[in-house]
Amino acid sequence: MKVPLLDLKPQYAQIKDQVIPEIMDIIENQAFILGPKVSKLEAKMAEYIGTSYTIGCSSGTDALLLALMAIDVGSGDEVITTPYTFFATAGSIHRVGARPVFVDIDPASYLIDVKKIEAAITPKTKAIMPVHLFGQCVDMGPLMEVARKHNLKVIEDAAQAIGARYKGKNAGQLGDIGCFSFFPSKNLGCFGDGGLISTNRKELYDRIMGLRVHGGIVQYHHQEVGLNARIDALQAAVVAVKLPHLAGWTEGRRRNAALYNELFKNNPKVVRPVELADRYHIFNQYVIRVDKRDELKNYLTEKEIGCSIYYPLSMHQQKCFAYLNYKPGDFIESEKAANSTIALPIYPELSKEQIEFVAQTVNEFTSR
Ligand SMILES: *Cc1c(COP(=O)(O)O)cnc(C)c1O
Repeated sequence: MKVPLLDLKPQYAQIKDQVIPEIMDIIENQAFILGPKVSKLEAKMAEYIGTSYTIGCSSGTDALLLALMAIDVGSGDEVITTPYTFFATAGSIHRVGARPVFVDIDPASYLIDVKKIEAAITPKTKAIMPVHLFGQCVDMGPLMEVARKHNLKVIEDAAQAIGARYKGKNAGQLGDIGCFSFFPSKNLGCFGDGGLISTNRKELYDRIMGLRVHGGIVQYHHQEVGLNARIDALQAAVVAVKLPHLAGWTEGRRRNAALYNELFKNNPKVVRPVELADRYHIFNQYVIRVDKRDELKNYLTEKEIGCSIYYPLSMHQQKCFAYLNYKPGDFIESEKAANSTIALPIYPELSKEQIEFVAQTVNEFTSR
């Protein structure tokens, strides 16, 4: 039985009849840049996330960049984040000229260990960038307390966490600014690159709206130097069509995760993902921890089961960050996770039989 890590075709089949007329409408009108499709999406997303404002932008990475620029992070500043994340988190901090300062993760949830943040704060620290990794929110209560105490801004990297909740509140409404990605493999994906920013703060909204269009809301008049970081009208239309389906798709992922959890329950060699207290996990990824991870990857590949490693190298060990002068062992939990975790297929349209086959194959491997 072939089980891909992700197959977007069955999802497309569900929305095809709605999305094609939307795309044709844009093509017929030849109206590709901003306009009503983008504003309509921004209004719907603000309602969905529960913030006063959202701003569509060109990718999750550009959302992070715009957010950092909007709070004036730059040369000489430090931003605290996790070393166990997709590259864009640390990359965007470097890109604005600031220094990423890593804080190790909690080994059970793989999320930044909030208890260790305060010790990493220096007079140069300007912001904290927590990542709601794999679809589960960081412990934002204590994190916001530390941030407020030290007068730091908080940018949530919610690229993997659209619809995830912490104490009943959505990812993207927990910090000062939330950053989302519509990359096709995220839970709410478009037909290419796209992203979104959420905030409750009018002054940040106004600033980011300008930064998105070269720093000038009035065309050809520039308050500051921004980016060209708009979301395409085509991508906005795709996301708007998909949004009403998101809750159902998330439930499908949670159902699949619960089934895996049940099937791995009696296998002590598989460490299952945890859903922490007060959280609603949206399972952008279902990640287990095993010994002989690389062998398991080969075994699954042989059996035509898709799997992937998120992420094989901790950020402090990336060549491009050698200048930060971290050394092996500095973030031991992040390093261990990078060496022992593997993601299994979790997308909502998987059948029960496919999940059972994946779990059975993993169990077979660990009992050899
Ligand atoms: C996907 C992702 C991003 C970047 O989003 P893009 O749309 O691919 O630029 C940033 N952070 C995390 C944690 C991500 O998973």
